[in-house]
Amino acid sequence: MSSCPVPPRADAGLLEHYVKKILAAPVYDLAVRTPLQAAPALSALLGNQVLLKREDLQPTFSFKIRGAYNKLVQLTAEQKARGVVTASAGNHAQGVALAARELGIRARIVMPATTPELKVLGVRSRGGEAVLHGASFPFALAHALQLADACGYTFVSPFDDPDVIAGQGTVAMEILRQQQGPLDAIFVPVGGGGLIAGIAAYVKYLRPEVRIIGVEPEGSSCLLAALRAGERVVLPSVDGFADGTAVAQIGAFGFEICRQWVDEVIIVSNDQLCSAIKLIYDDTRSITEPSGALAVAGIRQYVSTRGIAGQTLVAVNSGANINFDSLRYVAERVVAQGAV
Ligand SMILES: *Cc1c(COP(=O)(O)O)cnc(C)c1O
Repeated sequence: MSSCPVPPRADAGLLEHYVKKILAAPVYDLAVRTPLQAAPALSALLGNQVLLKREDLQPTFSFKIRGAYNKLVQLTAEQKARGVVTASAGNHAQGVALAARELGIRARIVMPATTPELKVLGVRSRGGEAVLHGASFPFALAHALQLADACGYTFVSPFDDPDVIAGQGTVAMEILRQQQGPLDAIFVPVGGGGLIAGIAAYVKYLRPEVRIIGVEPEGSSCLLAALRAGERVVLPSVDGFADGTAVAQIGAFGFEICRQWVDEVIIVSNDQLCSAIKLIYDDTRSITEPSGALAVAGIRQYVSTRGIAGQTLVAVNSGANINFDSLRYVAERVVAQGAV
C-alpha cells in the first residue's frame, strides 16, 4: 500500500560495533537455532523462492528470549542480585521471565490490570512475578520505571537497548549461515525496531547487497512515520490487532541503524495479515500470530506490486502467541476476502 525508500549512508563503525556484540551474544544457553524452512506452496504461488525463519519455534514461541537473555546475562553481579523489572503484556514478558529464571534473577513484570489471565499465568508459570498495575500499557510502563528507580531494579526494554538489539541480531547470523546461496531480501516485522536493527546491522556488514525490508501493520507504522519525518515521531494512536508490533514510537538505538541501513518499509493491512496467517498455515501447518505473519504479508505485497520473480526472499516468522479465540476472527476475514 505504501513504501519509503531510504537513501544509503555510511556509518560502518556502528555496524561493526553491533556485529561484534552479535557474535559474542551467548543466546544459545536458552534460545534454539531455528530452521530456515522452504515454503513450497507459497513459493509456487508467488513465483519466488520463499524461506521462513521459524522464530515461532523458540521456547516462549517468539524470538524475544534472544534479546532478553543477552541483556540479562551481561548484567553485573550486583544488578543480578537486585533483580530486573519490565512492563509488557506480551512476548517480551515471557522472554524476560524465562531468561531471568534461567539465570536465577528475580524478575518483576508489570502488566496492565486488564491483561488476560492467560498471559498473566504465562509469566507466573515461567517464574516471573506479575505485577498488575494501571488501566493500560503506558501506566504499567510508568510504574515499572518508578519501581526501577525506587528499588534499584534494572529496567529491561523490549527493544530500545543495544544488548537487546544484539540478541535479536543472532537471527541474522543464523540466516546467513543457513542460506549461503542466493539471497535477495530479508523481510522483518517491525514494532519498536529492535529485531530489524539487529538483523540490518549484521547483514549490511557482511552482505550489503541483501535488501533489508521492514514490514509494519498500517495501524502502528512508527518506523515509516519516523523515516518520513526524519525523527522519532510518536503516533497519536495505535491499533492493537498485531499486538506484538503495536508500538507508538520507534526505539532510539534501533532508529539510528534503521535510518541508514533499512532499504525499505512496507505497510500491510490487518486483512493482509489474516491472509498471510492462512498461507503460512497451508505450507507449515503452524499458526502464527498477526505480528508473526507480517513478513509473509510484506513479501506478497512486494512481489505483486513490482512484478518480482525468481528471487530468494526470507520472511522472519517472529511469533506464534495468538489466543485460540482470535483464530475465529482471522478465519472470518480470510473468508470475507474471498480466495487468498
Ligand atoms: C516484539 C515482536 C516483534 C517486533 O519486534 P521489535 O523488536 O519490537 O521491532 C515482531 N513480532 C513479534 C511476534 C514480536 O513479539
